[in-house]
Amino acid sequence: MGARPSAPGSLALVEAFLRTRNEISNAADLNRWCAAHRLPGGMSPRTFDRVLRLREALRSLMLANNAGDPDHAAVDTLNAEIATCGLRPEIARDGSRVRWPATGTSPGDRLLAPLLSAVIAAMTDGTWPRMKACAADDCRYAFYDHTRNRSGRWCDVSGCGANARMRAYRRRQTT
Ligand SMILES: [Zn+2]
Repeated sequence: MGARPSAPGSLALVEAFLRTRNEISNAADLNRWCAAHRLPGGMSPRTFDRVLRLREALRSLMLANNAGDPDHAAVDTLNAEIATCGLRPEIARDGSRVRWPATGTSPGDRLLAPLLSAVIAAMTDGTWPRMKACAADDCRYAFYDHTRNRSGRWCDVSGCGANARMRAYRRRQTT
């Protein structure tokens, strides 16, 4: 078993966004990534900082989903962005579900709103605890835990998982 299948539904976008650590290092990179994902671009360097702050706040919550401690500062960042983007619940026209449209219209709002609404939906339908950051300190890659008992710890069982098992084995040998 190697890399895990991607996250379901709108969480796939959140997962892809979290996996941009090596791909995005400035506003131009971010705009390219947005274009590739059919998202609005036009980010300034300042918006880039805001977007990265939210990305890492999400990573922190995903690490908490992976048997970590809750990060209150990260939660505050999410709540502040939900307010800045002007997300509010609205019942869809067919009356079957709640959507989270945003009133914010800046480039940052238009990128962060669909990510935040996907997180809200996942927290509401119970799939959010499966969204995790890899337990390896030097990795923290985002993955969706498809295991039955939500026991997945590493992004890749034969990569980070095997390395962790090897380190634990070495520790046992030397003590
Ligand atoms: Zn990993």
